[in-house]
Amino acid sequence: MTGLIIAIDGPAASGKSTTAKLVADRLAYTYIDSGAMYRAAALRALRLGIAEGDHEALARSTEGASIELPKRGDGPVLLDGSDVSAEIRTELVTALASVVSTVPGVRRALVRQQRSIGHATDCVMEGRDIGTVVFPDADLKIFLVADLAERARRRLRQMKEQGLLGEDGEDENERLLREFAEDIQARDERDSTREDSPLTKAPDAIELDTTGLSIEQQVEAVVRLAIERGAADRGNEKAVRE
Ligand code: C5P
Repeated sequence: MTGLIIAIDGPAASGKSTTAKLVADRLAYTYIDSGAMYRAAALRALRLGIAEGDHEALARSTEGASIELPKRGDGPVLLDGSDVSAEIRTELVTALASVVSTVPGVRRALVRQQRSIGHATDCVMEGRDIGTVVFPDADLKIFLVADLAERARRRLRQMKEQGLLGEDGEDENERLLREFAEDIQARDERDSTREDSPLTKAPDAIELDTTGLSIEQQVEAVVRLAIERGAADRGNEKAVRE
């Protein structure tokens, strides 16, 4: 069976995960974070001590990986059977994921898995190349963008909420914001300029600038578009069932 596929692409920290998770929840669709798969592939390479430049070994390691994602937003990401949810979010793995994802053999292995999940169920899949490469026939394609400064602020807020940073003073916040902006920019640059499946907006994607929008507004905008394309809003049904 092929269900309805909603592709959400965009640069780092543009609001994809938050939006995709909540949209999937409203529609009772499976949520797929394709970035988590690249992160898990990077972590496996790190654990195996594979050099960044050894493309063959990186591809082989990814082919041999067992990566399991939670069906809903929350739940563990399993790599070869063990929970790596926290480890794949570290700075080291984040940076390595953006390098490993430039390797065509790595992408081929993960895209195959992404397609097989997407073809089996209604889903919201987020990433960089979902609307362009993984599902060029997706029922709805959204391209999220936001100002760089706003994206850095969101990253700071998110990390504080997750307890990954202390409540430091203004100076420390300013320094972190500069650091996050640089990191986001470097990842965007690498994602947009790589040869295989660069980050780019599909011609038929709808661009949504989330800079001045609340999360509710972002979700509402995407859900409305999904309903226009044939999705059913199951938000109320779910609330009754739960
Ligand atoms: O979305 P997230 O930041 O978790 O993705 C981690 C990295 O994985 C990105 O920086 C990008 O290089 C890569 N990625 C990709 N294609 C996707 C999803 C993520 O290349 N579909």
